[in-house]
Formats: sequence, C-alpha cells, structure tokens
Amino acid sequence: MQRGGLSIYAKINSPIIIRSLNLSRLRITEIFYSLQGESSSIGKPTLFVRLTGCPLRCIWCDTEYAFSGGEYWDMPALLEKIESFNPQNICITGGEPLAQLKPCLELMQLLCKKGHNVSLETSGSIDISEVAPGVSKVMDLKAPDSGEMGKNLYSNIQYLNKNDEVKFVIKSRKDYDWAKMKIDQYQLSDKTNVIISPCFGDIDERQLAEWVIEDNLPVRFQIQMHKILWNDVQGH
Ligand code: SF4
Repeated sequence: MQRGGLSIYAKINSPIIIRSLNLSRLRITEIFYSLQGESSSIGKPTLFVRLTGCPLRCIWCDTEYAFSGGEYWDMPALLEKIESFNPQNICITGGEPLAQLKPCLELMQLLCKKGHNVSLETSGSIDISEVAPGVSKVMDLKAPDSGEMGKNLYSNIQYLNKNDEVKFVIKSRKDYDWAKMKIDQYQLSDKTNVIISPCFGDIDERQLAEWVIEDNLPVRFQIQMHKILWNDVQGH
C-alpha cells in the first residue's frame, strides 16, 4: 500500500520496476510519538517507527500485532512523515527491523545524517555489523524461557560499544542464572551497557531486583515504564 502521495510508486508499483530503479521502501506497522519506555534513553520524548515482520516467536512477545500487515512506505514519503514530527530522538523498532535489512540500514543512515539521535531495537538474531556507527543499538540476548535462545547471534557482541546496550528479558530464575553466565562469559559490562528487565506479568519484579542486588550484578535493572504509564496499550 502507498502512503505519502508524492511517490513514484503511486504510478509504478510493480515490484520488478521498483527493483530495477533501485528504490527503497519499508513495511511499517505504526509511527507514533511517545516517551521512551526503556533503555538508557528512558523518559525521553521519542518518535517510534515500528517496522513490520519478525522471524522470531518469543513466548512473551508483546508486539505480535507487528508480525504481519503493515503498509509499504517509499523512502522519501517515510522521511517526510518522520520529519513532520520534528523529532530529536527516533527509535527504529519492530517486530525485527533488520528483517528488512537493506532499506532499514539506509533509513537509519539517512536519519543520522539529518542529525537525529537514532536508536535501533533488535532481537540479536540478525547481523548488526552494517548498522551506521551513529546508531545506538539496543540488542536482546534471548534467554531460555523466551523459547528463542537458539536464535542468538553471539558474533554481534563484537559490534557493541558503550553507546549500545544488551537487554535480557527475564521470565524465571533459570533465565536470570543464564543471563549472569552470559554477562560473565562475554564480559558484557566491560563492552557495553547491560539491562536486566522483568518479563511483564510473568515474574515478581521485586524478587528480580533483589537477585540483582544480592549478586551486585554490573547491570541496570529496569522496568518498562510505558507499561506502567499506559498499561501496554498500542501506540505508546
Ligand atoms: S524478537 Fe521481538 S518482535 Fe520478535 S517475537 Fe521476539 S519479542 Fe516479538
């Protein structure tokens, strides 16, 4: 589907013609302005661009509505829409944004060039080596009770730095012990910022906080703020 009204796609929406002209487009589930609910940028007004599609199926996924559907936006119309919010901070999220690898990389590069603070939320299952250097990467490592631990691409860790974050969503004591082991194995806290976050509604948040304190774990404990403020309603 076409949005934005200005695009060449309105006249030539054949995939073959689009490919031959080397034009980019992205399938988008939603674009909305809210507060960043997690990561080191928590609380900052942020424009969220949620890309459609994800190859994973985490048991506790809270964005299943982004698995399918969405609308295609050509790059110029998408950039125009984004700029209409005059955003300082932009979060590219999903789904798994890197499932649309090339146009997603292009979008982030263009937004960085325009001077925006750009962050990327990614599952950790797709190569992040080509993400523009200015982008702050927030990468999951999927714990056992996500059901998707086998998809973790550990080679991605080498591309993380102090401007980035690794996030563990914890559903159980088993997940917590596994996260501790991975933090130690990859010396994650020396390389990047590490976030431990309770799986909303599945684990006693206070219990998890106490484990982190007991172990003096070199991480940031964080509860997703948007779920407290807006009870996980879509669009926040
Ligand atoms: S990677 Fe994210 S969007 Fe994909 S299934 Fe897991 S939680 Fe959901």
